[in-house]
Amino acid sequence: MNVLVINCGSSSLKYQLIDSDSEKVLAKGLCERIGLDGRLVYQKAGLEKEITEASMPTHKEAIQLVLQALTNEKTGAIASLEEVSAIGHRVVHGGEKFASSAVITDEMIAAVEDCNDLAPLHNPANLIGIRVCAELMPGVPQVGVFDTAFHQTMPPKAYLYGLPIEYYKNYQVRRYGFHGTSHSFVSKRAVEFLGLDRDNSKVIVCHLGNGSSISAVVNGKCVDTTMGLTPLEGVVMGTRSGSIDPAIIEYIAKKENLDIAGVMNVLNKKSGLQGMSGVSSDMRDLEEAIEAGNEDAKNAVDVLCYGIAKYVGGYVAAMNGVDAIIFTAGIGENDANVRRTVCSYLGYLGAELDEEANSARGEDRVISTPDSKVKIAVIPTNEELAICRDTVALVK
Ligand code: ADP
Repeated sequence: MNVLVINCGSSSLKYQLIDSDSEKVLAKGLCERIGLDGRLVYQKAGLEKEITEASMPTHKEAIQLVLQALTNEKTGAIASLEEVSAIGHRVVHGGEKFASSAVITDEMIAAVEDCNDLAPLHNPANLIGIRVCAELMPGVPQVGVFDTAFHQTMPPKAYLYGLPIEYYKNYQVRRYGFHGTSHSFVSKRAVEFLGLDRDNSKVIVCHLGNGSSISAVVNGKCVDTTMGLTPLEGVVMGTRSGSIDPAIIEYIAKKENLDIAGVMNVLNKKSGLQGMSGVSSDMRDLEEAIEAGNEDAKNAVDVLCYGIAKYVGGYVAAMNGVDAIIFTAGIGENDANVRRTVCSYLGYLGAELDEEANSARGEDRVISTPDSKVKIAVIPTNEELAICRDTVALVK
């Protein structure tokens, strides 16, 4: 069956049409600048990208344009919308209500709305996408796939913060974790690809992209992860600070004459690799700057790699061992230097990187030596395919 996968952001929307039998992408693209001027990117498999400037005052026009492109006589991937059997939506926050993907019903939408306070920028946008699809394609079953769901198996010792317990009980302040769809997909694939026994496996997934998070997965279930109540916690990211001393917030607010929203903006948008290097949030630019002798860029990447290694060490303790360490997402899949530096801290585990394998490119691949006591691998993530698979499983 054909599944339309939709990831609705506040002013953008990414989509893929996937044939779930062959798991091939039939067409994909994105709408950008929704509510401003509007731009549709559409690419049918095997053809060049088409970029169209098109007015999209709201997500409704954006989705209408996507559906038109998908069914366009010349370059469409399908003849009519009847060929779309189901729609899978990425939903950022499922709070404690969703430990797995769910078919979208009125009750389900109400439950997602209850989580809006926890992700005020993302969840309302995700819900708009769901409602618009219901309006434009009535009768087509829809499924919500949550970024938080995979992490719901964490025990209280991993998800509670050292705060007054009323904040958890009254306001649901706890660690939720994000990128769950990726951590779930990659950890499952790791077990399969590396021939591990799922029911006796300890895997660490390092999802390193613009946003980064690490998770510890025992017997297929998440036991800990680095992102928290929000995606700001954990390792240093493209523009996010990751974990810092919370007292810095008050200190900087006073020094820079900012309110809390102002400091949060700095922590989310002006910190991380971007803020530390003063160069860019993009790892490729940092590597170039380091080549040219930029000390700040070097420190930024060192802080990132050291931070990753410390979380990995922490998770080895949390799981009392580790069978495999997996790198995924933009940096994890492509940056041999970051992988090398992280692994340079892990010799005490008997983890040994195979330099040649680490420098090679490709899909799923082992990058540790045959003698390494811990398997190290690169496994490309594919959140859209994971959403497609969950959607099919729930609507079939
Ligand atoms: P997002 O979190 O937006 O999905 P991605 O997973 O696409 O992000 O990761 C983006 C990051 O991957 C950027 O920091 C980018 O520099 C990095 N990246 C992409 N390709 C390469 C490469 N060839 N070498 C090093 N870093 C790369």
